[in-house]
Amino acid sequence: MKIISRLLNLPSYLQLITSLIESDAGQVTLIVMSNQLPVKCPVCQTVSTQVHSHYERTLGDLNLGEYRVVWKLWVRKFFCSRQDCPRKIFCERFSQLIEPWARRITRLTKQLTDIGLAVGGQLGVRLSKHLNYQTSRNSLIRLVMGLKLPEPDTVEQLGVDDFAWRKGVCYGTVLVDLEKNQPVTLLQNREAQTVSEWLQTHPGAKLLSQLYRDGWPTGARSPKARSLRDRRIGRSQYPNRATLSQISQLSCQAQTQ
Ligand SMILES: [Zn+2]
Repeated sequence: MKIISRLLNLPSYLQLITSLIESDAGQVTLIVMSNQLPVKCPVCQTVSTQVHSHYERTLGDLNLGEYRVVWKLWVRKFFCSRQDCPRKIFCERFSQLIEPWARRITRLTKQLTDIGLAVGGQLGVRLSKHLNYQTSRNSLIRLVMGLKLPEPDTVEQLGVDDFAWRKGVCYGTVLVDLEKNQPVTLLQNREAQTVSEWLQTHPGAKLLSQLYRDGWPTGARSPKARSLRDRRIGRSQYPNRATLSQISQLSCQAQTQ
């Protein structure tokens, strides 16, 4: 049992009670209990030792050889001792090893996410099956879509353009790093106010350029950006479209407040 615990890299607060090997199903089932004390309420961070009840969580883990690994983890619920806390009863948490409400150990989630990132949903399912993991296309896509995007570095040359969420109905704004030729972020609409608010929370742009559908960069004076031509091509076609002049005006107003 100690060998399996070491192979699984179990933290000290998790105890492997027993393991069941089902050769026909190609599966190892691990019965694991937690003995961490005290635990903290996730809402108010008050320490508690008063157990309310137990329940069982079923979790997938990385394979051991040709066997799939499934945990049956006994999780405890605790009373929160703080009177004014809205969470009267809470479940113990397992740091980064197991995310709340997850159905997999984090290391398996990471591996499936890597598969989804590398080959996408449909091919990812085929590759996962080949590696003896059960998943679906939607699960892989959900994992990839759930990844947190890294905060963009300071963008010195920023391009601003609009795009259609739904052509003729709903438009957004795309911001582009002109030095790296990479999109930075998408904004929900193409109002000058929205772009101005983004610029205030991401200072550093020295050159602001408004892009147009034909690809010709034009622009206008911005509080911290040097001047480019403001040709406003296509303005009659997009009467609600934010121009750099509007963005600059709003940014100046915000700075003087
Ligand atoms: Zn609490």
